[in-house]
Amino acid sequence: MAQNTEHESFADRLKTAMAHRGLKQSDMIRAASELGSKLGKSQVSQYVSGKTVPRRDVVALLARILDVDEGWLEGAASLQAEPIAPVIPSDERASARHEAADQPSDSDRQHDAPTQRSTSMREFNKSSKLDNVLYDVRGPITDEAARMEAEGQRILKLNIGNTAPFGFRTPDEVIEDMRTQLTDCEGYSEARGLFSARKAIMQYAQLKGIPNVSMDGIYTGNGVSELIQLCMNALLNNGDEILIPMPDYPLWTACATLAGGTPVHYVCDEQAEWNPDIADIESKITPRTKAIVIINPNNPTGAVYPREVLEQIVEIARKHQLMIFSDEIYDRLVMDGFEHVSTATLAPDLPCVTFSGLSKSHMVCGFRIGWMVLSGNKRCMKDFMYGVNMLSNMRLCSNVPGQSIVQTALGGHQSVNNYIVPGGRIYEQRNYIYEALNAIDGVTAVKPKAAFYIFPKLDVEKFNITSDEQFALDLLHEKRILITRGGGFAWPEPDHFRIVFLPRMGVLQEAVEDLADFLEHYRQR
Ligand code: PLP
Repeated sequence: MAQNTEHESFADRLKTAMAHRGLKQSDMIRAASELGSKLGKSQVSQYVSGKTVPRRDVVALLARILDVDEGWLEGAASLQAEPIAPVIPSDERASARHEAADQPSDSDRQHDAPTQRSTSMREFNKSSKLDNVLYDVRGPITDEAARMEAEGQRILKLNIGNTAPFGFRTPDEVIEDMRTQLTDCEGYSEARGLFSARKAIMQYAQLKGIPNVSMDGIYTGNGVSELIQLCMNALLNNGDEILIPMPDYPLWTACATLAGGTPVHYVCDEQAEWNPDIADIESKITPRTKAIVIINPNNPTGAVYPREVLEQIVEIARKHQLMIFSDEIYDRLVMDGFEHVSTATLAPDLPCVTFSGLSKSHMVCGFRIGWMVLSGNKRCMKDFMYGVNMLSNMRLCSNVPGQSIVQTALGGHQSVNNYIVPGGRIYEQRNYIYEALNAIDGVTAVKPKAAFYIFPKLDVEKFNITSDEQFALDLLHEKRILITRGGGFAWPEPDHFRIVFLPRMGVLQEAVEDLADFLEHYRQR
């Protein structure tokens, strides 16, 4: 008997042994007394019912009474013993079995499960793959803000580019079209996405001048976020290097790291309107470099890269045979008449993946709809495409209601255009924040040309700043304003932070006044 399976509880083994011995609970109490020990009636009943597991010394006593191995009774898997079959009358044996069978069933015992645990449970730690992964846009300072909110404090969140809470509404037509199509979106779509959505994306890519785009090279995703992760997993082997801008949008660095790759950051130069430093890119290429990430228009700096800069980056990619990932999610939020050039248009001979989506241009971050377009030299990325297909199939498809509005959203009047011209909210708020920040003693900022972020610089000597995390926490505690520290964008010095300038003018003005007030006396300790 007594195969000590891992699913058997102490009570199971106790009952088995008692039944084998033909002993009732009262017999156990008597036997204990004969051995000079005391076992209470309720004590034994609790052991048998599984409500309690006895202490070690009691287990030893029970094992002695039952003539079984103590280790087996306790549950050590390797220890098994054969209790000696008792010589007792069959009616008594039956009654002993009956008594054991009367005890609560496994399902009854589930309610008492916690009390059965006598051994301490091992700890479940997060995977070590996450050790070097950072996503501070929603990080520890955000957690602190959440704690303060739970206490009833109101926090102004300037940490995340979430349009809806600041009154940016989705175009009515987009909402109406989703409503109309909702019942047709109940099933999975094709893994890459709905034909209508991909067709519209293809036409948009063609209008932007991206060469060699075909329907089978277009994938929709639950936001660009999902596709960044998918591509990094599809491409990177352990130790492969990928060039990522610094400051970065941190998801790129996080996903490359999680995929086993090594992010290598190239500098975007504040003195040169935050354009990528070409010499720095070149100097960071090694035989392990596999790809380069370009974020244009840029988050967090708001930079829009001139054609000549992009041409130089593409030339480096050409020379060193790099794959190009161009994140262009803010391409329709460009102001002041600057031209947005899609990197892929300059690289028809190179493997390119261009990312975009509706989150920012159509103010539907919550709908989770983005896409990527593979273009240029597809021959050399055939195997990568197998990988992308595999991962795309594994997630079945992206959110189908989100896909259903792509065609509507990409065609016709683009309501976002009203926001980015003089008199428009994003344009006016950008102008205000730029002027107001630069008016604060010890703060300087480059004027963003696109998107809704600004990445100001602090005079660290004036404010004695050695930790940008501490700066962010101090501002949060004193003024209840939540910003993201520069370190959250892989920025190596403690001298920058990012502000999202989405709040309405009045709120923004109050926030900047509070910041100015805070900085008037701030000296980090
Ligand atoms: N890429 C950049 C540069 C971003 O700033 C963001 C979001 O802020 C994303 C990608 C992710 O966008 P989503 O997943 O909403 O499409």
